[in-house]
Amino acid sequence: MIMSCGDHKVPSVSVLKGVGAAMVNKLQRLGIYNLQDLLFHLPMRYQDRTSVKEIGSLQIGDEAVIEAEVVNSEIKFSKKRTMLCRLHDGSGSITLRFFHFSAAQKNNLKVGKLLRCFGEVRPGPHGLEMVHPEYKSIDAAVNTAIEECLTPVYPMTEGLQQNRVRSLMAQALLWLDSGELAELLPKELRVQWSLPQLHKSLQYLHAPPPEADRELLALGMHPAQRRLAFEELLAHHLTLLNLRQKIQCDGGHALSSPGGSCAALLEQLPFSLTNAQTRVGVEVASDLSKGLPMLRLIQGDVGSGKTIVAAFAAVQTVENNFQAAIMAPTEILAEQHYLNFKNWLEPLQIKVGMITGKIKGKKRVSQLEALANGETQVIVGTHALFQEEVRFYNLGLAVIDEQHRFGVHQRLSLREKGRDGVRSPHQLIMTATPIPRTLTMSAYADLDCSIIDELPPGRKAVHTVVISDERRDEVIERVRSACREKRQVYWVCTLIEESELLQCQAAEVTAEQLRLQLPEFNIGLIHGRMKSIEKQTIMQQFKGDPENTAKIDLLVATTVIEVGVDVPNASVMIIENPERLGLAQLHQLRGRVGRGSVESFCLLLYRAPLSKVGKKRLKIMRDTNDGFLIAEKDLEIRGPGEVLGTRQTGEMQFRIADLQRDADLLEQVQQLAMQVNTNQQLVEAITRRWLGQGEEYGHV
Ligand code: ADP
Ligand code: MG
Repeated sequence: MIMSCGDHKVPSVSVLKGVGAAMVNKLQRLGIYNLQDLLFHLPMRYQDRTSVKEIGSLQIGDEAVIEAEVVNSEIKFSKKRTMLCRLHDGSGSITLRFFHFSAAQKNNLKVGKLLRCFGEVRPGPHGLEMVHPEYKSIDAAVNTAIEECLTPVYPMTEGLQQNRVRSLMAQALLWLDSGELAELLPKELRVQWSLPQLHKSLQYLHAPPPEADRELLALGMHPAQRRLAFEELLAHHLTLLNLRQKIQCDGGHALSSPGGSCAALLEQLPFSLTNAQTRVGVEVASDLSKGLPMLRLIQGDVGSGKTIVAAFAAVQTVENNFQAAIMAPTEILAEQHYLNFKNWLEPLQIKVGMITGKIKGKKRVSQLEALANGETQVIVGTHALFQEEVRFYNLGLAVIDEQHRFGVHQRLSLREKGRDGVRSPHQLIMTATPIPRTLTMSAYADLDCSIIDELPPGRKAVHTVVISDERRDEVIERVRSACREKRQVYWVCTLIEESELLQCQAAEVTAEQLRLQLPEFNIGLIHGRMKSIEKQTIMQQFKGDPENTAKIDLLVATTVIEVGVDVPNASVMIIENPERLGLAQLHQLRGRVGRGSVESFCLLLYRAPLSKVGKKRLKIMRDTNDGFLIAEKDLEIRGPGEVLGTRQTGEMQFRIADLQRDADLLEQVQQLAMQVNTNQQLVEAITRRWLGQGEEYGHV
């Protein structure tokens, strides 16, 4: 099996001595298929076996080579049979402890023997110990060779020994020496960015000299490591740019500038747009008019008013006789968007439809028909919009309100639906919560970015209180007095289990308990397993309308209300077990309050005791309402995978790079990507090298 890489061929690991089918399998479990993969399998740390240490100089925690004479050897029978072997080297003594040992070992470790051992130094009942060290007997007269390089310790899988990997790596390094692995970064660029050569970096990392800076290596900050991370980040970046180019190659619909309907929409809004909304709206309108498919990301904090910006884009699209689709991550949000869009657009004689998984039977058929024959001009929906049976008449714009839940693939599939053979629809992605800049630069490199950095006027910061559930009764009293003041309250139940069923059951139980404790108020319940119509009714009862005051005082909910739900009179939120949620999700939930004119509160009712990290996270929630800051902290604490959500599955997995550690490289990566972007051969070689197994990612 030969894979091409640039002009070179990379042989499969099966060419190595001692690698049969079983070993091939084990290596595959580590993502290693060929010699290049093997060489990119970097040590996670190193041992220093390059010099013999005096026992007297050892510290607890050291990993060291010692040479010493056996001065005592005994077997102890306490709970466990143990062999203890006392060694002395003139500078001090140490005990070797074995819990498992053979008769041969016992005979071998006799008084007077000279041993060379390698192990970790630990404290024992009678001074320093090594437990199950590696050892061999040596002859005082012969000078046995010691390691010349630091010894790599590799990430492992079951049934594979370090020594096997080391010996395979030694063979791979010989292959590398023969110059078979192409250097893909042009020399002038390597010089410009001070990046060491590929083969030198790999040689160094698999066999560093004794004087190598092990601390720097442990941090992953050695130039040799950084060079590899750089190339990998570049590969990902180029893949996304390539994707963007391919989409834009299609050409897009050049829509004329916003016309009468847009003006009418603006006229009819009960508020005026913030400066930030206007600015971003202009950016979007200009993209739409360009004749290239728009690929734009709108970021803005919870409540910054992203939806209305999307509505203007939809109206501009309809003015040009194309359809627009708005896709939401949850059913509840789709329903809410549907109501909003209907309110905004129907007065303009624009027909709005809805398709979700729960709309079935005749209703579904008629929705699908109206969409296919062009009668429906704006369609709102969930993932259901991706389904095979959904046909558009002429999709001009896809808006994805994503909450990081849709991946590149799904976006591509929506684009397929709107493709008329020549042109691709415009795409507008809105994130539900801000994403740290480093992640935008990497995971969303294919998109232009607009930021709504201003909240509508009159918003008040939400006061957040962190409180133990041992004080639940006090919390209930606070809820009682809030409800008496005619404030409305959300009570959010969370669960560790992914199971929606369990979450709903927990919410049901909580609602029952609260009804007993707060009998004087109306308590509603909403969760993901209710029918659409039931959910709508409950939301309407909670929201009320201009004529009727709300019928529900307190709404018990699962995290289904996380995204987008908008009831301005609700000003208190209790979140149970907030320690189980990510910060971005908490921020999103908390964004449901603080939408009206009164002061709002969010009570994070945690289950005691709270871990150290848990405390730190909730403190961040208490200290700030700034979604961008929270996103940065979330990234620090949980790492990029979690923060990006499903988007990262298979798409943002790095072998060597680490988005946090290497964040400072991204600026350079971006620049370099622009420089080499047009070199198709290089782009192909580099993406194949780093994302070769990643399959469709980046393929259009
Ligand atoms: P998000 O950015 O979180 O999606 P929404 O689009 O749901 O926010 O907007 C939140 C609320 O703010 C909605 O009730 C919306 O009607 C309202 N809103 C949006 N823009 C403005 C504005 N410029 N002035 C006042 N209210 C606004
Ligand atoms: Mg929103």
